[in-house]
Amino acid sequence: MPLYLVNNDEIGVNDLPKERRALIMLFGGTGDLATRKLYPALFNLYKKGNLRDHFAVIGTARNKINDAEFQELVAKSVAKESDDKKLIANFASHFYYEAHDVTDVKHYSVLREKADELDKKYDLQGNRVFYISMAPNFFGTVAKNLKTQNLLTENGEFNRLVIEKPFGRDYESAKQLNDELSASFDENQIFRIDHYLGKEMIQNIEAIRFGNTIFEALWNNRYIDNIQITLAEDLGVEERAGYYDNSGALRDMVQNHIMQIVSLLAMEQPVAFKDVDIRSEKVKALRSLRVYDVVEASANFVRGQYGSDNSNKSYREEDGVPADSNTETFVAGKLLFDNYRWSGTPFYIRTGKKLAGKFTRVDVVFKKPLVDIFAFPQSGSTPLNDNVLTIFVEPNQGFSLRVNAKNNEQGFHTEPVDLEYMEDQKNTPQPYERLIHDVLKGDGTNFSSWPEVASAWKFVDQIRRVWDIQQPNFPNYIPGSMGPVAADELLARDHRQWVYKINR
Ligand code: NAD
Repeated sequence: MPLYLVNNDEIGVNDLPKERRALIMLFGGTGDLATRKLYPALFNLYKKGNLRDHFAVIGTARNKINDAEFQELVAKSVAKESDDKKLIANFASHFYYEAHDVTDVKHYSVLREKADELDKKYDLQGNRVFYISMAPNFFGTVAKNLKTQNLLTENGEFNRLVIEKPFGRDYESAKQLNDELSASFDENQIFRIDHYLGKEMIQNIEAIRFGNTIFEALWNNRYIDNIQITLAEDLGVEERAGYYDNSGALRDMVQNHIMQIVSLLAMEQPVAFKDVDIRSEKVKALRSLRVYDVVEASANFVRGQYGSDNSNKSYREEDGVPADSNTETFVAGKLLFDNYRWSGTPFYIRTGKKLAGKFTRVDVVFKKPLVDIFAFPQSGSTPLNDNVLTIFVEPNQGFSLRVNAKNNEQGFHTEPVDLEYMEDQKNTPQPYERLIHDVLKGDGTNFSSWPEVASAWKFVDQIRRVWDIQQPNFPNYIPGSMGPVAADELLARDHRQWVYKINR
């Protein structure tokens, strides 16, 4: 196998990818996330050889099913990943099931015995991953019981805890949760999933920034006018009303995904491309983000809730949503950093449901040349356009750079042209595959550390505080738009506009 296919530390014997040896104990093994994302991700690691003979999965949930039924569920959930029935059956044979109520402390001894038995059977050498794919109110309980009921090994290379979002609903609750987790696991054993960090082009931000002088040399307030981050969804709240109405876009999308993307764009160059170094730069960046007072929060953040049109119900008409709900389904905001690199260069963010499409993009808008020598009288030239680096995160993956060039007509007229690179997505691993592989490797780069989570909550809590005391005027945007007019006005006030816009 040629070397460029896998990193050096990834190569095991016979040039196959390095096999990762572990027992994976999955809490919430019959749930939506496990069946839709986690089993296909594990299967793809199996296909590639990262998981081979020395792994076993214990699925647990309250359902009373046996191993055979569980293996059938696993096989079904990975069926679309391969036509090879034998491969799927071999993979599923590594899965075992224990009906278990996570609040039943005594029952953890059954899990411990099963784990020890499988450890011997598959020669797992004491390596354990505990993945909690269930409602967040159980995270602390499971972590505590794992520790007190002696499921953590002492002979192995690692015991790691993986938890899903949301991590708290404000700083106080997040801190309480973190205190509960850290009573049983050290920070370097805790892997907080933010699946945006598993996306190809989010990981590519670091390569684009730190692998190219032409960008990193200009990556500051002298050359960048503003940065825009858009996470748009075209769907509404669907079946998640119960959760979503209690959360809203600010908590569901801004505190985690958007703040993570912002910190990758804003951070200084890490000393090395290693998790500890990257995390420390991200934290430093987030700590220089200006935490707004009441006046600034009202001026710099906009919220929205979708109304109805001929083919769409309004948010308040969705099943499970109270008719007088003031939960925001849209957020736009302006973020300011008080540091040498970014002072004066705003980061604009927006996210929402029932918008004009499902896509995520970052637009880095560079400043125009100080003098436009082409705009002499009677030249007929249009003013120079902004140079814009757009990072397309999804659904297409790639980036484009908008530059000004002369067009090929008579006379001298400039016009913007896009230099574009789009990735072939056939071989791109899905976020959960990358992230689970990172957990098995012990690489925390693409997970949120506690100091990052804490800083993000402190920022977001200030916005929430203001919104909780002010009555919104909802609904205020129509499905298929890019949010309320106020989101455009937020930039217009600064004599700017969103790079991605649609005609209203
Ligand atoms: P789910 O409700 O589909 O699954 C929950 C699982 O927990 C089920 O297997 C259920 O049997 C089990 N369970 C519930 N109570 C239990 C108890 N007392 N003891 C033992 N097992 C119990 O939830 P989900 O959608 O799979 O979400 C799991 C986690 O992942 C949540 O934290 C969620 O916020 C997060 N998440 C889910 C998605 C998604 O696409 N589903 C996306 C991002 C994050």
